[in-house]
Amino acid sequence: MPGVAGRCPCVRPRNVSPPPDASLPLETSALRGELRILRSLLLVGAAAVALTALLEWQHGQLAPWDRWAYPLLGGACLLGAAVLHWRRQWERHVRLGMVLALNAYLVFALYMVLLAREGPPDWYQLVSNFYWMPLAYGSAFIFLPRREALITSALMFAVVFGPTFWLIEQGRLVDGPLALKPVFTNFAVAQAVYMVLLLAISRLRADYLRTRERAEWMRQVAATDPLTGIANRRALNERLVSALGLLARHDQAVSLLLLDIDSFKLINDEHGHAAGDAVLTGLSALLAEQLRVSDELGRWGGEEFLLLAPGTTLPAATELAERIRAAVAQAAFPHGRTVTVSIGVAQAGVGETPEQWVARADLALYEAKRAGRNRVRQHLKPVEAEAAGPTPRA
Ligand code: GH3
Ligand code: MG
Ligand code: MG
Repeated sequence: MPGVAGRCPCVRPRNVSPPPDASLPLETSALRGELRILRSLLLVGAAAVALTALLEWQHGQLAPWDRWAYPLLGGACLLGAAVLHWRRQWERHVRLGMVLALNAYLVFALYMVLLAREGPPDWYQLVSNFYWMPLAYGSAFIFLPRREALITSALMFAVVFGPTFWLIEQGRLVDGPLALKPVFTNFAVAQAVYMVLLLAISRLRADYLRTRERAEWMRQVAATDPLTGIANRRALNERLVSALGLLARHDQAVSLLLLDIDSFKLINDEHGHAAGDAVLTGLSALLAEQLRVSDELGRWGGEEFLLLAPGTTLPAATELAERIRAAVAQAAFPHGRTVTVSIGVAQAGVGETPEQWVARADLALYEAKRAGRNRVRQHLKPVEAEAAGPTPRA
């Protein structure tokens, strides 16, 4: 006799993962699945560097250091995109590498503008550095988890403004058309505001992702029977509706099996409720083994199961039901007794509602019970749409 695993009747559904833990850092998992966006960003970055280089070259504004820094930066973007495409396992290194490369370039370019020549700085170069500096913080918050982004941004802020203000105070920098001190003070305040804003956005994003994870978990729980871990009646109802839709649109045959454990009350009475629960979980596992991938199994109510078999006509569904009935009758259950089931089978008729279809399978089930239990009966004629009457039960 094949045995049925005596599963522990646990409260949590087997098919549903535990609820998302809000105390765990979400960023790392949340950043997963964004690879395509990151790759696109890197390609856009490479294009932006190329375009800037071209425009500055055309207008004679290309700084001497940018002649080699731009190709390096653009090349790093392309390399990063390629690595994300072909070596996903290096994603973390690419993220960190890109942020460091961009930050390093912006700091380097700023100090070159301030220190590379005698006299006042080249104001075009200085202003264009101001334009691009927010990208240092933005890229950190896009590419890195929030904590790392915050640390990187704070370091960047310190490296940009610490030495600059010191140089200004020491009188080592010469003002140009504007005084450097108020310009850099304004610049520093703006950068600090960007950082706070990005921090708030990344917090909102983490909250949103956590809520989405939780909503997905709740959706799964709402569709799952807590005892057996298979679909519950609500989920089955949705499947019945879509199966009838496929029948109406594509004429795809579909049958259902309504399966009821025989004399289940006796199992509860003689072996206790826990043994009854173990029979239900064991039976659902046994049924799941009998199914094709496209079939849908669920718990319809107490000790009743519903099996939806798309692409299956009545004779094939009846054969399947007979196979299931025989397999159940031969299986050993945890309480040490055999268990039998009665099964009613019905193929969906065009124009039927789910209720009418299930009612016909229920009629067939009633016939199986009346004929002595442990048997299969089928309902042959599709009822007319308006003719679903009351259904007697075993
Ligand atoms: P029949 O062969 O005519 O179907 O008889 P039956 O005893 O199986 O049917 P009946 O409707 O008389 O009893 C079904 C029993 O199933 C009654 C109910 O207490 C029990 N039941 C329903 N849900 C659960 C459950 O989740 N766990 C357990 N252990 N028992 C349940
Ligand atoms: Mg019943
Ligand atoms: Mg029963």
